[in-house]
Amino acid sequence: MPILPPGVAARDFTAATRLFEEAVGRDWVFTSDEDVNLYRDAFSTSWGEPDELIPSAAVAPANVEQVQAVVRAANRYKVPLFPIATGKNFAYGGPAPNLRGSVVVDLKRMNRVLELDADRYTCLVEPGVSYFDLYRAIQERGLKLWIDNPSPGWGSPMGNALDHGIGHTMGRHRDHFGSHCGIEAVLANGEVMRTGMGAMPNAGSWQDYPYGYGPDVAGLFGQANFGIVTKMGFWLYPQPESYRTGLVTVPRRRDLDGLIKAINYLEQSYLIGEPILGSPLRRALAKSPSLRALVTKTGGITDAALDKAASDENLHVWSCDLQFYGPERTNKANWEFSKAKIASFVPDAKFYEGESFAMPPKGDQLNNTISPFPSGVQRRQTFGIPDLAVWSNISRTDADPEPWRDGHIGFSPVIPRTADAVFKAQEVFVDALAEIGVQSRVNHLQTPLCWFQRAFVFITTFPTSKTNPEINRKTREAVKKLIPIGAQHGWGEYRCPPAFQDAVVEAYSFGGHSLRRFNEAMKDAADPNGILAPGRGGIWPKRYRGRRA
Ligand SMILES: Cc1cc2nc3c(=O)[nH]c(=O)nc-3n(C[C@H](O)[C@H](O)[C@H](O)COP(=O)(O)OP(=O)(O)OC[C@H]3O[C@@H](n4cnc5c(N)ncnc54)[C@H](O)[C@@H]3O)c2cc1C
Repeated sequence: MPILPPGVAARDFTAATRLFEEAVGRDWVFTSDEDVNLYRDAFSTSWGEPDELIPSAAVAPANVEQVQAVVRAANRYKVPLFPIATGKNFAYGGPAPNLRGSVVVDLKRMNRVLELDADRYTCLVEPGVSYFDLYRAIQERGLKLWIDNPSPGWGSPMGNALDHGIGHTMGRHRDHFGSHCGIEAVLANGEVMRTGMGAMPNAGSWQDYPYGYGPDVAGLFGQANFGIVTKMGFWLYPQPESYRTGLVTVPRRRDLDGLIKAINYLEQSYLIGEPILGSPLRRALAKSPSLRALVTKTGGITDAALDKAASDENLHVWSCDLQFYGPERTNKANWEFSKAKIASFVPDAKFYEGESFAMPPKGDQLNNTISPFPSGVQRRQTFGIPDLAVWSNISRTDADPEPWRDGHIGFSPVIPRTADAVFKAQEVFVDALAEIGVQSRVNHLQTPLCWFQRAFVFITTFPTSKTNPEINRKTREAVKKLIPIGAQHGWGEYRCPPAFQDAVVEAYSFGGHSLRRFNEAMKDAADPNGILAPGRGGIWPKRYRGRRA
């Protein structure tokens, strides 16, 4: 007998399963342990434990009408559903639901690229279209369109965007929800709704103008549970003519202030792609125990101490990889301008010429080689070319034949794009992790990620294991302690696995939790039986509200 959804009798569950079979065909309803196992989160922090978020079954509709039929059946028997697109949300929950026993609605069979417009730089896709699929469709048609993809290419534009995922090219496009345009969703009552211009029958501008008229409700589908999205439009962009890199280093700890102000100026002026902050000093960590002791010291460090350590090693403290996309001439001019702008903040910054070559990249330019610069940029993602090379960081390799962890989860607080915030986050998390007693890479040289154009993510990851529950216990404990610690400083997670979503939302508490109460009032109105992804985004329908962690 499979796990049952809470509050659903076995007889009702069986009856719902029959209706699912009528809707999608027997071959596409999965109830055996062998099949359901595929929908467990391989990076779960509770693998094999009683609270692991395991689904009861999965159903895989092939079209919108079948999704509607599944929703109607779920309403009839009050069976909770959990929709996934490609289901590869590893580090943030994989394909597993927020509520143990939910039925996964696996949308991989709906995998058509419905529209690709090379004149208006847009596309319209179904949930099961992966980044590989979209890239391939563009190449097969010989279009000079670019996409922006996350590091692993097997996820989907839709699934990634609906979890507020990010990519690695130019600012506007890196924010995947922010660069969507137009949603079609099956609502909890089985109706199909379109957002923006899609609400106007036959509008030719659904993928061009996101708002239509009236409130923009598209946000209700990201990190939330107000519908099963069946189509989503995205803004693509023209293949740039050329690509250029350059590196800047600044000598002193406090120079991070000028460096960040300069890159903020350059990014908000749309002159550079994703800046990658780093520290040349990290190179010296392996051979210098005193430096390691300094950068992991609790109670904060002084500018003078780090500056001396850097000058002893004859290295600068911070670096930033700069990337330029566009015509060769403007890239060159923007690099020259960037040097002058950064030097106006940090006069003794050093600049290193990188590469410059025409797009599309060829041969070695395309290879996933480490960049000549310290950050080690994964090359293909900078060109919007999906691949899976990032998995070599965490899987069995010649260099790491027996990895001690099976996966990881991300702890991903958003902090302001200032040096003061970076220094404070380093100090707070170094101290907190020392007190909690877990190893992590957080130290006084850790730099935040510039994924979002206007905010930093000060990410750190914690290991998960399928064989060692102690590793998972420590990870759970660390993340649960870090969330409120971050919140004390106004740092909230941009994203997290289902097991921690309630804790994260707990910290977004302005107005006595007025946002959460508003979301849940809407949830109760739009989904009175609470069938769509209960708990996702910390939004629990009335029926399951007592389950809030
Ligand atoms: C090593 C590594 C590197 C990574 N790098 C990145 C990165 O660079 N950028 C990044 O963003 N992420 C990254 N991730 C996280 C993750 O792998 C990707 O974000 C991945 O794209 C998400 O999986 P997916 O696209 O298959 O989404 P899915 O798993 O299909 O969807 C994500 C969630 O969205 C909701 N959802 C999906 N489809 C629907 C729908 N049709 N209707 C309603 N709700 C829906 C569901 O709640 C689902 O759980 C990384 C993970 C690892 C392990």
